[in-house]
Amino acid sequence: MIIKTLDDKKLSLENDGKLELFFIGTGSAFTKRQYQTNLLIVKGKDHLLIDCGTKCPQAVSELGIPVTQIKNFLITHSHADHIGGLEEISLLGRYVTKRKPVMVINETYQHILWDMSLRGGCEYNEEEAGDMLTFKDFWDVIRPQWLPDYNRETFGLKVGNIDIKIMRTKHIPDSSFDWQSSFWSCGVIIDDRVFFTSDTRFDHDLIEFYENKFNFETIFHDCQFFTGGVHASLDEINSLSPEIKAKTYLTHYGDNWEEFDETVNKYGFAGRAIQQQYYIFE
Ligand SMILES: [Zn+2]
Ligand SMILES: [Zn+2]
Repeated sequence: MIIKTLDDKKLSLENDGKLELFFIGTGSAFTKRQYQTNLLIVKGKDHLLIDCGTKCPQAVSELGIPVTQIKNFLITHSHADHIGGLEEISLLGRYVTKRKPVMVINETYQHILWDMSLRGGCEYNEEEAGDMLTFKDFWDVIRPQWLPDYNRETFGLKVGNIDIKIMRTKHIPDSSFDWQSSFWSCGVIIDDRVFFTSDTRFDHDLIEFYENKFNFETIFHDCQFFTGGVHASLDEINSLSPEIKAKTYLTHYGDNWEEFDETVNKYGFAGRAIQQQYYIFE
């Protein structure tokens, strides 16, 4: 894996065919020094944006492309640092570009995302013979397929030539016992090579099961610098094996990261993922 800085501050949604990961941000939900942890995948002519938080449309625009050029979206869960930009995307698509973006989403989460979040700002913008707008008036949908042979709910799909697998995770509430009793959230496997946990509490079984199956080249793991609450803490992730830590980059971290860089090194992690750098897989 090669790490490259974005030189000219101009983001591209195409490349020469290599799998490229680009973090729009690597910050936490409340970051004021960064953008939020939203991840753009580019491979050849295909792209997919994982999560679109409140700051995402602004961040993408500052990188030289209007957010309406992003066509494909996958959402990992309903916190605002992951969905806060979606109303803007929905309304821009329907009323400005007149073109629906595509969302990769299963039926269960589509109902949650629409009924509990997007509906409030979207459905009443028009009224036609008493009918309100629905999710599919704003979005084209790709349905992932349920995959057997996994010890937790896992779905797979292709976005062009990008292979995606998503699995349920244990994020909220802080008291939930396992992924089944947690609110809907997912992690993402990209081309069977890279694991992006998105937001999750520390879940040893999650890492162990998928790592044994895929032997990832790189893992990007949610991390907060204190223990407790709804994210995996630095000390908890430190309990993973040295081999796993050596290929794990931390994401979704707080604005006081300098205070912990020494500990991140000492624990043997690959490091922190850095916003607006490319992670390129040959
Ligand atoms: Zn988050
Ligand atoms: Zn979250």
